[in-house]
Amino acid sequence: MTFTQLNLSPALLAALPTGLTKPTEIQCLAIPEALTGSDILALAQTGSGKTLAFGLPLLQSVETKSAEIQSLVVVPTRELAMQVSGVLTEVANQLDIKVVTLCGGVSQTIQEKLIADGAQIIVATPGRLLDLLKQQIVDFSHVKSLVLDEADRLLDMGFWADIERIVSFFPIDSQRQTLLFSATLAPKLELLTQKLLDKPKRVEAHMANSVVSTIEEQLYLVNKGNKAKALQWLLKEHQWSQALVFISARDSADTFAKKLKKAGFNVAALHGEKEQKERQRTLSDFHANKINVLIATDVLARGIDVDALPVVINLDLPASAPVYIHRVGRTARAGKNGLAISLVCHGEMKELNDIRTLTNRSLDLKTLENFPVTDKPASGDSKRAPRDKQANRRTAKKRKAGGFNKNKEK
Ligand code: AMP
Repeated sequence: MTFTQLNLSPALLAALPTGLTKPTEIQCLAIPEALTGSDILALAQTGSGKTLAFGLPLLQSVETKSAEIQSLVVVPTRELAMQVSGVLTEVANQLDIKVVTLCGGVSQTIQEKLIADGAQIIVATPGRLLDLLKQQIVDFSHVKSLVLDEADRLLDMGFWADIERIVSFFPIDSQRQTLLFSATLAPKLELLTQKLLDKPKRVEAHMANSVVSTIEEQLYLVNKGNKAKALQWLLKEHQWSQALVFISARDSADTFAKKLKKAGFNVAALHGEKEQKERQRTLSDFHANKINVLIATDVLARGIDVDALPVVINLDLPASAPVYIHRVGRTARAGKNGLAISLVCHGEMKELNDIRTLTNRSLDLKTLENFPVTDKPASGDSKRAPRDKQANRRTAKKRKAGGFNKNKEK
């Protein structure tokens, strides 16, 4: 199939990003359905071109003569909001359509001015969007389409209350079209989609919860205490041009980055506790290949598209199995090949089994051949590492103060 067969307007066809020769499978399936105005539940694997699959119908539906907000895309993280905005803006600029990003960590005043100047498509994270809705700076009266990208994350506990509140700002007689896009979807969340969708068309380019077949997955059993050494050894052995390393804890991301820096690597850490400006600079440096190793928390697990990233390394397994699919999906995008290595210790068997069950594969653990460190059992290897009393007290204090929400990325 070609783009010209997708019922796209000649102006939109002329504005498509250069280098796109034919639509991806999800684009072939979702674009014609979205253009009919139906609600859609779309499932497609990581890196399969979902952004343009919802983005092109949105762009086509914008009435350029109206300066009102006509489409809204909600995403779970600031980084993804900026990326999605970037993809849409590339096309929108040529059609005289204004796309505005609304997310936290950056000046609200600038965003207010952009809205006042006329934003036709908004890409937002839930928190800042709600602030602007409550202050009546954003108005949904003319919004014709709502997209939830990484929908399962937005339907999940950490965000669902925000999404319900956002939807409550639509006029009661709103005739909007709602599109949900995701690579993973738990059955219990599928029930929740019924609260947002009206007689939806289900569009499935790939099975939900499946890992892209061009990702080579390698899982190694490594003692917890040897993971830092194993990571350094892997990076030295393979000399990949770039590596994205995932770790669940923010403080550990910084610690690992320091260790690697000391060992001579060109490395940075990115997590939700860093200043937004620094987060943006770090990610754009990684995109520009100025950083070789990026150690990140799950704030980068979903949607982020780094061109031809050769390898993703999991320093630990995520507590939630779908996150594994998203993490490894940062490589092998747009039909390319990629490698995903996971360093798994004895204490992570539950997480591993959850991933095996979700993806319905055996995912065998291997030993890291030639790794020159003797695998002595490390303390805390068979269970979670014991935390010192001070760290426990800090966590308890933070939880009491309401500042501890491990479910919610910022
Ligand atoms: P996405 O899933 O939207 O993040 O897209 C993943 C990658 O696929 C991005 O690098 C896109 O630029 C690329 N892409 C999107 N659509 C196509 C297409 N039709 N042909 C080739 N690459 C595409």
